[in-house]
Amino acid sequence: MFSASLLCPGMPLPASQRSAPQLVLPVACEIGASCLIQKLVDHDTGPGRRDYRCGTLTTDGHDGIDIRLRTMQDMAQGYAVIAAAAGVVLRVRDGEPDISSRLRTVRDGRDAGNGVVIAHGGGWETQYSHLKSGSVAVRPGQRIEAGERLGLVGLSGNSEFPHLHFSVRLNGGAIDPFTGGPAPAACGPRSDSQALWKPKTASALRYVGTTVISAGLASAAPARSVAERAGATTQISRDASLLLWVDAIGARDGDVQHFSIAGPDGKAVHSQQVRVDSGGLSWFAFSGKKAPPNGWSGGRYIGSYTLKREGVTVANAVASVVVR
Ligand SMILES: [Zn+2]
Repeated sequence: MFSASLLCPGMPLPASQRSAPQLVLPVACEIGASCLIQKLVDHDTGPGRRDYRCGTLTTDGHDGIDIRLRTMQDMAQGYAVIAAAAGVVLRVRDGEPDISSRLRTVRDGRDAGNGVVIAHGGGWETQYSHLKSGSVAVRPGQRIEAGERLGLVGLSGNSEFPHLHFSVRLNGGAIDPFTGGPAPAACGPRSDSQALWKPKTASALRYVGTTVISAGLASAAPARSVAERAGATTQISRDASLLLWVDAIGARDGDVQHFSIAGPDGKAVHSQQVRVDSGGLSWFAFSGKKAPPNGWSGGRYIGSYTLKREGVTVANAVASVVVR
């Protein structure tokens, strides 16, 4: 039913699309380093999920892009949300608290939390959601340049981890900035010329369907929800259990994960291979063992995690902790 508005690669763009804003990354962060893409726009019209590359880096009905931070400490440090293109501020909201949606008791319809909407002309709008409480730095009617600071990445509204939900609309309809076309639409390999990103931004936004968000060595598994986690463990006692935990995006049923922990002498003190039995957009796993009867030797322990798919490494991480 969307065939009338479908864009085929190679077709000339309609006038509205030619006036599309060229976008920069709306967070002042480095994709793959200080921030990650957790979710893309859903192109599946049914109850399933399918991103623009026919992968599953999305949830049913997701109409934007989630650019996430790895930890709450990163959120406290402060990452600026910036205007993806020049325009005029249409609406703002601030004052919603930064709490995990799992702990949120009020259901007031303010799922976007604190946010900003910018009009770019020609019916184009961008929206920036889940901003940090008290951080919104612009007001309605204000003219904004691309890259200008709007606020900070936060956890307000319906959010379980610190991130920016960024959405693009044309005349009120969702547009996937990775395709420049309407969503839902057919997925598949597409001509980059249809993407709305500026070339430099597009090259930083390489598609990564599986990756590790964070990993650590600790004496106990941390809370599954990033928003409810304490800071990273840097030291544990000799008689404590030692385990390697990992948070990943896009682990799949049948993937094989290998956990290993090496002691200060470089020798393995723990090694375990575990098959992923369901996977999903978010994946949390850990493996470890109790301290030996006389306790661990003191020094630095290194944990290594590898996720393999049909024998090929698709994600990995290294973490360390000092035993004293
Ligand atoms: Zn989102």
